[in-house]
Amino acid sequence: MSFDATILSSPIEYLKGVGPLRADLLKKELNIFTFKDLLDHFPLRHVDKTKVHPISSIHLASDYIQVAGKITALNLMGEGRGKRLVATLKDDSGTLELVWFQAISYIQKSLQLGQPYLVYGKAGYFNGMPQITHPEIEAFSPEKLNGKAFLDPVYPSTEKLKAKSLGGRQIGKLTFGLLSSIQENDLPENLPPSLLQHFSFPSRFEAYQQIHFPVSEERFQKAINRLKFEELFIAQLRLSLIRLQRHRYSKGVVFAQVGQLFNTFYHQFLPFALTAAQKRVLKEIRQDMGQGRQMNRLLQGDVGSGKTMVALLSMLLAADNGFQSSLMAPTEILANQHYQGITSLLKNMPIRVELLTGSVKGSTRKKILKDLAEGGIHLLIGTHALLEDKVQFQKLGLAIIDEQHRFGVEQRARLWKKAEIPPHILVMTATPIPRTLAMTAYGDLDYSIIDELPPGRKPISTVHRYEYARATVMDFIRSEIDKGRQVYIIFPLIEESEKLDYENLMRGYENVKAFFPEPRYWISMVHGRQAPDVKETNMQRFVQHDTQIMVSTTVIEVGVNVPNASVMVIESAEKFGLSQLHQLRGRVGRGCEKSFCILLTGTQLTNEARERLKIMCATNDGFVIAEKDLELRGPGDIEGTRQSGLLNFKLANIVQDKHWLDAAKQLSQTIVAADPTLSAVDNLRLKSFLHAQKGKLAWSKIS
Ligand code: ADP
Ligand code: MG
Repeated sequence: MSFDATILSSPIEYLKGVGPLRADLLKKELNIFTFKDLLDHFPLRHVDKTKVHPISSIHLASDYIQVAGKITALNLMGEGRGKRLVATLKDDSGTLELVWFQAISYIQKSLQLGQPYLVYGKAGYFNGMPQITHPEIEAFSPEKLNGKAFLDPVYPSTEKLKAKSLGGRQIGKLTFGLLSSIQENDLPENLPPSLLQHFSFPSRFEAYQQIHFPVSEERFQKAINRLKFEELFIAQLRLSLIRLQRHRYSKGVVFAQVGQLFNTFYHQFLPFALTAAQKRVLKEIRQDMGQGRQMNRLLQGDVGSGKTMVALLSMLLAADNGFQSSLMAPTEILANQHYQGITSLLKNMPIRVELLTGSVKGSTRKKILKDLAEGGIHLLIGTHALLEDKVQFQKLGLAIIDEQHRFGVEQRARLWKKAEIPPHILVMTATPIPRTLAMTAYGDLDYSIIDELPPGRKPISTVHRYEYARATVMDFIRSEIDKGRQVYIIFPLIEESEKLDYENLMRGYENVKAFFPEPRYWISMVHGRQAPDVKETNMQRFVQHDTQIMVSTTVIEVGVNVPNASVMVIESAEKFGLSQLHQLRGRVGRGCEKSFCILLTGTQLTNEARERLKIMCATNDGFVIAEKDLELRGPGDIEGTRQSGLLNFKLANIVQDKHWLDAAKQLSQTIVAADPTLSAVDNLRLKSFLHAQKGKLAWSKIS
């Protein structure tokens, strides 16, 4: 049995009924490259097409429905883009309009007045009339229904595909043809027999047949459960194997001692007592770095939880053991802020810290590179510039990465290569990730959480205000500015249209300016269309308090620290997701003044938007917000995980299928612990399946 060489790995153009043109579209539109990819294009849902409903049963909230009736009228209406063909369909119970905007003349010719038709589509209401736009339609005779499968699959498709006769129905036909032509050993079993038995799962072959063309509800349920479990289990198994590999076999530099540098700083220069959470995390890191294997740790902590101090102390541990460290931030501003903060904390310590960014040039740069290679620099802080090949350390022992999700996996991997034995890696993120997600996305990492804020923080007051109260909001802002504070006003990115975003921002800027005229007030504006140096200058003016107001799109989201800013206004707040709102709000509440977050919205709000605003006003706890976000939006959208691709399961949903996820995790760990090389007879299928999949998925260590 083999997972590589079956007919299912054939390119999709070789499937009967596809050909090069349609193959191109399938690849572009749906990522279907092989026969197997087509089988993995699962139906959205099934409909029972043996049932014909009376037209009168269509109501306002109707979904897809099948009806049958005679066409009593056929009319062309409208002009230009509004031109359409409207057919009136009547059965004993009522009347329905069928509407086509495309292929009008073809359809007009093929339909006959007075003839019975079977019609299927999404029913809606238009001008008080029930209507189906672009229905599936075929000549009707009652005996036609008898031969139909129990449930018909409905496949996702796109407008482009529909235009080339590759709508959901045609995809169904292709899939049906393919499934009828293959045999059991084309879709070999991959799960161990004991697992199949334990859950009474159907075979993989049977599961694929039944998920597309089920013969009964019960067999469909079994099929979908099996395939969901398989998906989660294979993912968890990979993570368990990677983790085991790293724990057992990876080499790491040993930081054996806590030395003079750490102790001196800790006892003489630490400006505050560490929180219990900071202490705990530091201990976890210390243990991890002393064991002789490479640390690969994710450090999560809400904005303002004090991750930088943990990084600094870890770096001192490295220095105590004769190793250099690096600290990489996603923007120059952040790198700069780290550099300023850290050099001032270390001013009485015999530690050399340098800053390397794109704007460090000429002889300064040369000198830094030279000293770095000779070991004269203990800590190098910087941006992506640190990744360049020219940047050579003498003895890099610890690489710290701030605000993890702005860096890709490959970028992080480049840090590894800067030392003979890969350095310990500490990735810090302020995006709280719910535990369920962390376990799935980062199951191969060790992770630490700072779940406590330093004492004495004043919680940020968050309120929701409607557009019509804008003047009052502006008055409030003015009173804060007059007290010497600064204010952020953030506009959303609507993604689809950069031009619209820009116009929206400009209008907003003019509006703010009308309330806050120069020269009494000065405004900075930052947005994605500006050149990096313009952005930097505008940002810097705000940081230095040359301006009191920062009007911007979400580009300022990550990490910026202006403790004097006490108000965050978020425009069109209903357009933001929860975790993004939380990140934005984290820009204020950093000083000793009471801070405010004002969520401005229009009056038309969806229930979900209302829920988000309510949660934001009710809590400042990032982990609570992350859990809610996961509930409301599902995992696909969680910030920072989308690009990782680790959570894009085709069938499983880690919220709704949490029990399967837990089972998959537990069983994969048991199997790997008992048989780390998957050599037991029971596990051989798994081994060859994983082997065949190698390289297909972007599973990778985080760095
Ligand atoms: P983040 O986790 O968002 O990177 P920072 O490391 O920037 O947070 O810390 C936020 C602020 O809190 C800084 O001004 C820092 O000096 C301060 N801070 C950190 N730890 C403590 C502590 N244990 N007690 C008091 N203040 C602290
Ligand atoms: Mg930080």
